[in-house]
Amino acid sequence: MGSLDGVAETVLHRRYLQQDEEGTIVETPDEMFRRVAANLATAEAQFGGDVEPTEERFYEAISNLDFLPNSPTLMNAGTELQQLAACFVLPVEDSIDSIFTAVKQTALIHQSGGGTGFSFSQLRPEGDVVKKTGGVASGPVSFMKIFDAATEQIKQGGRRRGANMGVLDVTHPDVEEFITSKSDDDVLRNFNLSVATDAEFWEAHASGDAYEIVNPRTDATVRQATPDAILDEIAEAAWETGDPGLLFLDTINEHNPTPHLGRIEATNPCGEVPELPYEACILGSINLGQHTDGEEVDWEKLRDTVHLAVRFLDNAIEMSEFPVPEIEEMVTNTRRLGLGVMGFHDMLVDLRIPYVSEGAVEFADELIEFVHEESWAASRQLADEREPFPEWENSIREAPMRNATTTTIAPTGTISLIAGCSASIEPIYNVAYTKHVMGGLDIVNDRFVDMARERGFYSEELVEDLHGWTTIQNVERIPDDVKRLFQTAHDVPADHHLLVQAAFQEHVDNAVSKTVNLPQSASVDDVKEIFLSARDLDLKGITVFRSGSKPEQVLGESPLK
Ligand code: UDP
Repeated sequence: MGSLDGVAETVLHRRYLQQDEEGTIVETPDEMFRRVAANLATAEAQFGGDVEPTEERFYEAISNLDFLPNSPTLMNAGTELQQLAACFVLPVEDSIDSIFTAVKQTALIHQSGGGTGFSFSQLRPEGDVVKKTGGVASGPVSFMKIFDAATEQIKQGGRRRGANMGVLDVTHPDVEEFITSKSDDDVLRNFNLSVATDAEFWEAHASGDAYEIVNPRTDATVRQATPDAILDEIAEAAWETGDPGLLFLDTINEHNPTPHLGRIEATNPCGEVPELPYEACILGSINLGQHTDGEEVDWEKLRDTVHLAVRFLDNAIEMSEFPVPEIEEMVTNTRRLGLGVMGFHDMLVDLRIPYVSEGAVEFADELIEFVHEESWAASRQLADEREPFPEWENSIREAPMRNATTTTIAPTGTISLIAGCSASIEPIYNVAYTKHVMGGLDIVNDRFVDMARERGFYSEELVEDLHGWTTIQNVERIPDDVKRLFQTAHDVPADHHLLVQAAFQEHVDNAVSKTVNLPQSASVDDVKEIFLSARDLDLKGITVFRSGSKPEQVLGESPLK
């Protein structure tokens, strides 16, 4: 087994290791890795594969921290729950029956560690008629508050907070209320919000025309609105609270692998998986810092890990039990996987490429293209060995594949703490800091400490001092070339965050969860500019986070984590 640091030990003890009925921890981290590997390897038997050698390979990869699956897999594989997916989208139709069915399904999913996304665009607007009772409708935002209250109460048995994504179409009559619904801190605390936009909206924006606001129940146009004015409102709310973000549904649906099954209208909570209603996705992330020799990328090892990870995740689909039969059926039909990466900044440090450089964007492109191509190759091999996903013949995939999608960039908020690596494709938060979760975690960047020792500027006092800063750029004791390698989230300009996001989005077939940080001094217009650039860069969605704009986030420090 690889070495777990103190932070990893704390996280595992608090949230992941199995407990008995009295709450006493009954497994070691090593036994946890063994439990997960053994459980997922048993799927091999169904396809005539070798269980034991596969278990060993899975165990090696996860216990060495080369690759980790999403939290629900680590928590639940080989246990009574056996629900392995992190990302769900549920349908919400315009009836009390459908709304409360979705509330119940949400509760079951949150209980097992998953997050849920919904489009509320089909719900009739506030003030509309309710024939059955002769009353008036209360509208999407009021129903979202019910989902929020349910989430608040479940809190996932204390192990993981529930998270939701609420989506509303920009043509919905209640869109303005939706946009400003989080300006009160106590409202919709367990929701991230996204306004869904389509080609028509952007065409109207480009030509300066108005667009139609439509009642989804009657399809009647209720009024006209100006795209630019709505964008101003969205930018202002996002400047103030971080919400809402935008979704680009036309771009998302251009890449929908199974359009015959329906149009995609929502994503999971952090935005990295656009899904059809009742789809679910099991994520896994390759720890890139484990795939260098300290100076260069070990492409052979990376290829092996990608192939193993695709097999692991496909087995996870086989082994996962879902709390709702409709989900079981959808997942079996599309077999969507979400393989991604974490430790991107660590890898850049090893390669001596500063995060804020053209070189980093070019390298991101080369790296993720490789991971993506290899993951497709692995999925094709599995289609040969097993069978293509059942909906393959009707899908847009030309060659048989085992999975409708293979790649995603997830935030890796917790699994990067277990792996001791930089999160996802994000710049580091700092070289040394205290993360205020789980009683306070002291995070110190190993690569920085090693380099400081080698270069002779290490001291305990320096590391202590650095805790008080969010950047090291003004610290005289640190040589300039080292400073350049350890640029933090605060040193990265917003347009560079976008370029990194776009480089990854270019190749992954799901989406990219990325925090586009803005300084506190950024203006509402800066936020709007980012939205417009995100559209120009063909992204699938965009969220911004202005320093200090939000007292408490849905998932920790940023809206995406
Ligand atoms: N998620 C959730 N609750 C949480 C954290 C995450 O429901 O507290 C879900 C959500 O759908 C998110 C996904 O898990 O988009 C992946 O998040 P992340 O990569 O941070 O999860 P990890 O596997 O690191 O715990």
